Amino acid sequence: MSSLLITNGHLVTLDEENRFVEKGSIYIEGNQIINVGNFAPDTYSADRTIDARGSLVMPGLINAHHHLYSTFARGFTPPGPPATNFEENLRSLWWKLDAALDSEDVYYSALLAIMHAARAGCTTIIDHHASPSCCDGSLDQVERAFRDVGLSGCLCYEVSDRNRDGEGIKENERYIRKCRDSDNDQMAAMFGLHALMTLGTRTLDRCADIGNSLDVGFHVHAAEDEIDVRVTMERYGRRIMDRFLDFAIPGSKTIFVHGVHFGERELDLLRSTDSMLVNAPESNMNNGLSVAPILNMLKHGVTVGVGTDGMSSHMISQARAMYLHQRTYHRDPTVAFSEACEILLKNNRSICNRLFREPRGMLSKGQLADIVIPDYVPFTPLNADTFYGHLLFGLSFARVRTTIARGQVIVEDGQLPHLDEDEIRARCAERVPRIWKRIN
Ligand SMILES: [Zn+2]
Repeated sequence: MSSLLITNGHLVTLDEENRFVEKGSIYIEGNQIINVGNFAPDTYSADRTIDARGSLVMPGLINAHHHLYSTFARGFTPPGPPATNFEENLRSLWWKLDAALDSEDVYYSALLAIMHAARAGCTTIIDHHASPSCCDGSLDQVERAFRDVGLSGCLCYEVSDRNRDGEGIKENERYIRKCRDSDNDQMAAMFGLHALMTLGTRTLDRCADIGNSLDVGFHVHAAEDEIDVRVTMERYGRRIMDRFLDFAIPGSKTIFVHGVHFGERELDLLRSTDSMLVNAPESNMNNGLSVAPILNMLKHGVTVGVGTDGMSSHMISQARAMYLHQRTYHRDPTVAFSEACEILLKNNRSICNRLFREPRGMLSKGQLADIVIPDYVPFTPLNADTFYGHLLFGLSFARVRTTIARGQVIVEDGQLPHLDEDEIRARCAERVPRIWKRIN
């Protein structure tokens, strides 16, 4: 079993006691943390030692909602007149892009985005995938990218009636069974659904039956834009959470994404069913949507997480966006600072710990060895009172020097030495014009 020692770090453990350890060390065996603190480095003879040179060392970050397949949208302008609302944007860009991907495109788009995530200190991604032209086996292509980079992933396939999606249902079921039967815990699975606005009764029935019989959670967009609320009311006479409850979709392993238009009743139902809610503020801003009632969700006791929704693979900037978005919305400079930080650092961890068997998100004994060392030696005091300020105003702009995922050094001096980055970028650059042409 390989072993790794990190020395001379300013450790932000985020553990039960919220310990901050100066000149601290971490000892790792295999993919697990064995010891954290001020022990003498020669206590262990490790295969490899990394000197953190006084930099901050913290647990790897978690992205609670991503669309890795969206990578090749960068710089693309859909043909025709610009989209003027949420639904037009889905139709003119996202539903054409996902249909244009073949299985190698799925692999390469995931690979690049996971590499970006690793370089931004993220070690676990909960993804929501769609590629209707190559649905069967597509989650294996995404998994292949996770394994090549070395991060952990929780995958699902986005079922939607826009694709008459028997295949999407099968792909979820196949992949959930594959993860369940595997004794390797790097990957986990959920049952993916697009949103109520594209899911009819028959499809929801089938998905709910299969997902519930396999005892997995669902990963579904909810009340992202008014259209989702309106269509559900017009077609079924139900509010969003009531409609989900009709199919037993809510539960402690289910993630509802966005919740921009959730009112008091929905928040109560999220809480009473112990469901999770993940918001992606940059995505909501990009789509010109309303602001999600994050503070009210927290007041209701909902487990709120944060994700990037395909906007980027950078998590600290996402928490920063959430904090600024909420302050602007409430026009109140006293709110959302610690809330946004805790959503990123504590709630995303709780969400993962419901979906994966291996515990993560703290620097403490027995945790998965997911660790990030940014190039960040603090020049103002770093402790429990000041850390969130360092996070949102310093670490958000710091380059990551080292990322360790599952006990393996993935990023070294800002590079991914186990991958040929130039070759991967060249392959992607070759593929993208062909993908864009298929969209036109
Ligand atoms: Zn999304």
